Amino acid sequence: MNTYARLPVAFVRGEGVWLWDEAGKKYLDALAGIAVNTLGHAHPKLTRALTGQIARVIHTSNLFRIPQQEAAADRIADVTGLDEVFFCNSGLEANEAAIKIARKYGHERGIAEPAIVVMEKAFHGRSLATLSASGSRKVQAGFEPLVQGFVRVPLNDLEAVERIAGHNRNVCAVMVEPIQGEGGINLSRLEYLRGLKQVCERNDWLFISDEVQCGLGRTGKWFVYQHAGFLPDVVPLAKGLGSGVPVGACVAGGRAKGVLKPGNHGSTFGGNPLAMTAVVTTIDTVKEEGLLANAARVGDAIRGGLAAALDRLAGVTEIRGMGLMIGIELDRPCGELVGQALAAGLVINVTADNVIRLLPPLVMSEAEGRMAVERLAPLVQAFLGRGAAAQAAAAH
Ligand SMILES: *Cc1c(COP(=O)(O)O)cnc(C)c1O
Repeated sequence: MNTYARLPVAFVRGEGVWLWDEAGKKYLDALAGIAVNTLGHAHPKLTRALTGQIARVIHTSNLFRIPQQEAAADRIADVTGLDEVFFCNSGLEANEAAIKIARKYGHERGIAEPAIVVMEKAFHGRSLATLSASGSRKVQAGFEPLVQGFVRVPLNDLEAVERIAGHNRNVCAVMVEPIQGEGGINLSRLEYLRGLKQVCERNDWLFISDEVQCGLGRTGKWFVYQHAGFLPDVVPLAKGLGSGVPVGACVAGGRAKGVLKPGNHGSTFGGNPLAMTAVVTTIDTVKEEGLLANAARVGDAIRGGLAAALDRLAGVTEIRGMGLMIGIELDRPCGELVGQALAAGLVINVTADNVIRLLPPLVMSEAEGRMAVERLAPLVQAFLGRGAAAQAAAAH
């Protein structure tokens, strides 16, 4: 189906942060398949682990014990600080599991119609429940009736949440992307996240931290809630978790521990030996190669380089981000920059119409980060310069 307006490029090979198209042209990958290729392309450790697993067994079933799944769950419990993991195959599935946990938790507390506080500009997926939780008319339009049970507030507005706590007895959870990805790299203030956690504590609500895009080391710590210094109850994961092998996980602890019981949820593919090998290898390699520190260091270098080149330019609204999750907001729609970057041998994305988004693999070096800036900055300067020239011409 024609659900994507695709660019006329096909990448056929990759190595590290580099991709090659059918014609043999080489590109610097500053997108990682939308925060997916944590270890870059064709990482030898991942290739070896996956090919070895394929030769043994790809899929059995959750009807049986799966040792690779137990190993992956141990790794995830270790890095998240939480207790339980449900494995699925995508971000929306991880969020569906989180929403089901919240509703069941609400029912167990005697709430007949449990509600979840969600944020404006949020993106949680494209299933009916997760598009209803998302704060984007573009995602929802045409698919009404929406799933009920979501109450929306602006991000970073703690008072709005306090007001809801004061009068809505149906609320049982808050669901937030601590850094909104699709919404335009919008950062939650860390004090806001801590305040939100306190509201959850006071009201016995679950804190659901959707780290599908911002989690798994991209910001310099495993998860953004670790920057804020507390533990959420539920953490949906996907994207970077398998370095390109489709896999999702809904991690639970605290008040959410033990809410889902045998028979409450399931997945045919979820947690199969191949996907679990990808999870184990991804987490182990991030540790072995010091990729958390690398993400922080290279992210700082990229944002520093972008600021030096673009900060004082008319038309650049803000350069923001954390680690290797970076947004450059312009004062106008700039989707055409994606094609111009490809022509210049750079893979980027534009989200929310006017935010250039960089989500490089965590293996990007500082030199490669500088190269990304060197390729991107002139394109942005020329793009904004053309706009200024057109405005001047129109004024005459
Ligand atoms: C991408 C994304 C999702 C949805 O993930 P899919 O794997 O596309 O279903 C959910 N939440 C966030 C924060 C995302 O960035």
